[in-house]
Amino acid sequence: MVSRVIPVNPFDLVLFGATGDLAQRKILPGLYHRFEVGQMPEEARIIGTARSDMDSDGFRDQIRASMNEFAPAFKKDLLDQFLSRVEYVPVDALGKAGWAELAKILRPDVVRAFYLSVGPNLFSGIAQRLNDHDLATPDSRIVVEKPFGHDLASAKALNEGLRACFEEHQIYRIDHYLGKETVQNLMALRFANSLFEPLWNSTHVDHVQITVAETVGVGGRGAYYDQSGAMRDMIQNHLVQLLCLTAMEPPSKFSPNAVRDEKVKVIEALEPVAQADIARGQYRTDKSGDGYLDHVENPASRTESFIALKAHIGNWRWAGVPFYLRTGKRLRARESEIAVFFRDPPHTIFPNVGPLHGNVLVIRLQPDEGITLRTTIKEPGQGGFRLSDVALDMSFADALGDESQSPDAYERLVMDVIRGDQTLFMRGDEAEAAWAWVDPIVKGWEERGDRPARYDQGSSGPEEALMLMHRDGRRWRQIGG
Ligand code: NAP
Repeated sequence: MVSRVIPVNPFDLVLFGATGDLAQRKILPGLYHRFEVGQMPEEARIIGTARSDMDSDGFRDQIRASMNEFAPAFKKDLLDQFLSRVEYVPVDALGKAGWAELAKILRPDVVRAFYLSVGPNLFSGIAQRLNDHDLATPDSRIVVEKPFGHDLASAKALNEGLRACFEEHQIYRIDHYLGKETVQNLMALRFANSLFEPLWNSTHVDHVQITVAETVGVGGRGAYYDQSGAMRDMIQNHLVQLLCLTAMEPPSKFSPNAVRDEKVKVIEALEPVAQADIARGQYRTDKSGDGYLDHVENPASRTESFIALKAHIGNWRWAGVPFYLRTGKRLRARESEIAVFFRDPPHTIFPNVGPLHGNVLVIRLQPDEGITLRTTIKEPGQGGFRLSDVALDMSFADALGDESQSPDAYERLVMDVIRGDQTLFMRGDEAEAAWAWVDPIVKGWEERGDRPARYDQGSSGPEEALMLMHRDGRRWRQIGG
């Protein structure tokens, strides 16, 4: 199998927040990689901006240092060539300095994209100044990072700020989960194969589990994270997006609005979640004295670093099928997956083997991206007819070899921006619909003053999350199992 790299059109990419963590760790190394594989045309240019006062050479040195730290497998001569396409202009996003200089170097006849790798408090101000300086041409694109708001009201305000200067077709709201290879493969699995579609409904699916487990803690992001928590930081965007792709109806075509229309319908069909169907947790301080509360300002913080909940989608296809969502920090393993549990066979013809298990289709997002189907087979050998569960396993690395070295999610998404393809980006109404579902859930526990349960670091989360499943006669898949 030969992967094709199709160069994009010439572009000017203006990277706001170019000296920041995300730009240096992900976006710039990702752009270098696209250059290395030949996707960036000769005339492509990246213009970094931030308030820090330095010239283009200083910025190039900073990128070299970041590449050494975060992406050391670069080729030196190619990195030099890449850096010759990089410039830097100091710009104060909310002031006057730098805008005229930025305007001067932008070219009128190439694709123009503004990537806002800065806090959301700067989004509207930057959009406004781009407009004031006539930089927001009708075909230019603006990319914004998460978090897209803190609640419905703030998301609406962000949408208004952006839409005052850009049309919706110019706005790219990043959810980097959508750029992951396996997430897109979920769409291929569902809509390019006829095997699963007849089974993809409440008649055949018992329940779905979506897990995003992290081993890292809040670390240096404690102050930010404590204002947010797992529900806002992970469920509202990443896990809801995974749920949408799992549950949505087949779009009539693979086009941005057809796909996003179907996703919005899923979010709007999400039912309110009962208090009893939510388990929140906060990781304890371990022996070394490192715990959630050691990284946040409020020693009595009630913010959750873990959440598990049972969601229901109130539509014909999914009536009565629970979608269990679970995410947390400092858990046993770093693992993201979607597991679709099919119903148990209704009757067994095999004597003395106990109840049969349903098939489970697992879409692994990380690590070791791939797809597994749990099936029941006869145990090999003599001595009676015994059954056991085995996995039909498709690891991308095994099946595709080098071809499995797919671009990082950020690389793919930035190139989609240049191509003008919004399919893998959240539309404004989608972000608002997700907040409209999340807000009352958060308000519920805030008004009740609920405290998250404590859980041990390196565990699967608090006992309450296990109980959430046990009550329904089900079990979570083991994290790191
Ligand atoms: P960061 O390290 O704090 O960087 C912020 C950047 O913005 C710096 O380059 C800073 O440079 C610039 N900046 C701040 N105020 C400015 C102003 N008034 N005018 C012009 N530039 C200004 O933040 P980050 O971690 O890179 O995150 C950036 C955005 O991505 C945030 O919205 C964050 O939530 C989101 N995000 C980050 C990650 C991650 O892994 N880091 C992951 C997902 C989403 P100067 O101080 O020199 O101006």
